[in-house]
Amino acid sequence: MNIVVLVKQVPDTNEVKIDPETGRIMREGLPSIINPDDKAGIEEALKIKDENGAHVTVLSMGPPQAAEALKEAYAMGCDEVILLTDRAFGGADTWATSTAIAAAINNLDYDLIIAGRQAIDGDTAQVGPQTAEHLAIPSISYVEDIKEVNGSNITVQRQYEDRYQILKAKFPVLITTLGEMNSPRYMRVSRIYDINKEDLVKVWTVEDIEVDKSNIGLAGSPTRVKASFTKGAKQAGKVFDVDSEEGANIIIDKLAEEFLI
Ligand SMILES: Cc1cc2nc3c(=O)[nH]c(=O)nc-3n(C[C@H](O)[C@H](O)[C@H](O)COP(=O)(O)OP(=O)(O)OC[C@H]3O[C@@H](n4cnc5c(N)ncnc54)[C@H](O)[C@@H]3O)c2cc1C
Repeated sequence: MNIVVLVKQVPDTNEVKIDPETGRIMREGLPSIINPDDKAGIEEALKIKDENGAHVTVLSMGPPQAAEALKEAYAMGCDEVILLTDRAFGGADTWATSTAIAAAINNLDYDLIIAGRQAIDGDTAQVGPQTAEHLAIPSISYVEDIKEVNGSNITVQRQYEDRYQILKAKFPVLITTLGEMNSPRYMRVSRIYDINKEDLVKVWTVEDIEVDKSNIGLAGSPTRVKASFTKGAKQAGKVFDVDSEEGANIIIDKLAEEFLI
């Protein structure tokens, strides 16, 4: 079977620091990593490969340095890695991103497509399901466990806030995976030797995919980020000198006021 895993290279947001003087995010020297939900997706694809045999292709859209994420995916055990990179894709919103990704997937054979639930930088959780829509295939988001895979279908457990659902889907299908669902394997030493081979990362530009150019990049994006700013620091806390029952009521009223309960 053929599995395509979508991987985004993201800044490690755990390492983000705020400049205390200006209140701005300090981006310099921020390490880039494979988005955690996508790394779980790679691990699930490799588990299927170990158990049933599969050809695992990893696809990423991003600037040339995103090749590093693909090399890591290869070293973990993936078979083929493709970087979709072109200035024409820059500044894309989720619609334009998923349009380009779906067009690239149209060049590939696939039974199962695995995306992460959400990227830790953009944080929208839109690209996976939108890609499935473009390809006109079903999608199952928030997959926390793959129960069974056979030649024609997959059974998964999908997470909800207060329950879970077991779903069986016929191929082709797209699923989105959660970072907490597994512990991704380390890169294999034997494969690390190969990652700098000249032609390891296949590079595709806009000319290598069949896509309506008015639907990609900044020009093809229905939404625009108009302004971005760092959230202000919290106000100083208030102290109430009251008995415990009154204290509980104050907390409940405050939470209700903020629509938190
Ligand atoms: C200069 C610039 C301008 C931007 N302007 C806008 C804007 O105006 N409006 C707006 O909505 N967004 C904008 N963005 C954000 C950008 O569109 C999103 O980062 C992108 O669309 C992906 O969405 P996400 O990160 O929220 O991914 P999610 O939807 O959270 O990602 C879910 C999953 O989809 C897959 N995936 C996502 N992106 C990729 C990728 N590139 N390659 C492979 N797989 C991927 C991964 O598996 C990921 O786990 C801008 C970004 C930049 C750099």
